[in-house]
Amino acid sequence: KPNCVFVCVFLQTILVGDSGVGKTSLLVQFDQGKFIPGSFSATVGIGFTVSFLFQIWDTAGQERFRSVTHAYYRDAHALLLLYDITNKASFDNIRAWLTEIHEYAQSNVVIMLLGNKADMSGDRAIRRDEGERLAREYSVPFMETSAKTGVNVDLAFTAVAKELKHRA
Ligand code: GDP
Ligand code: MG
Repeated sequence: KPNCVFVCVFLQTILVGDSGVGKTSLLVQFDQGKFIPGSFSATVGIGFTVSFLFQIWDTAGQERFRSVTHAYYRDAHALLLLYDITNKASFDNIRAWLTEIHEYAQSNVVIMLLGNKADMSGDRAIRRDEGERLAREYSVPFMETSAKTGVNVDLAFTAVAKELKHRA
């Protein structure tokens, strides 16, 4: 019998949001500390990386993959919900994503709303206070991030980890 058990707990985190909002780029920035321009069109369904304490699942935003992602919602400890601050539709769809999350995820899941592409504020379609207001409505924390410059990327994941620790 083992007298020492090593328990490795991954914080299962899922990146959710419309296609093109920057989920894969955010993951690459967090994991490798760099921005690789261009779409990661090869992201099909779900990919993941294990980084520090996080096991992060990157999802494809397209409707046709949703049945794949439902199964992963159940095991998620945290969900990073992304929209693109230059893309109003991706912001408007946040409500639909939240409806889906509330349907499939565990009730105590940590959710964080991220307005990504903060470096493109010249092309902004959604003001910061609109993001803040939506986040308040759903009682979730909010941040604007940039997968390009890295602004708030580490902070977002740290905030999720703190919230999970707080709830444990
Ligand atoms: P996904 O479909 O949500 O995984 O989005 P991708 O990570 O593939 O990114 C879609 C496009 O947006 C790509 O051209 C990225 O280079 C670009 N992109 C992603 N994040 C940012 C960001 O923070 N700033 C800028 N300027 N472009 C970004
Ligand atoms: Mg992707």
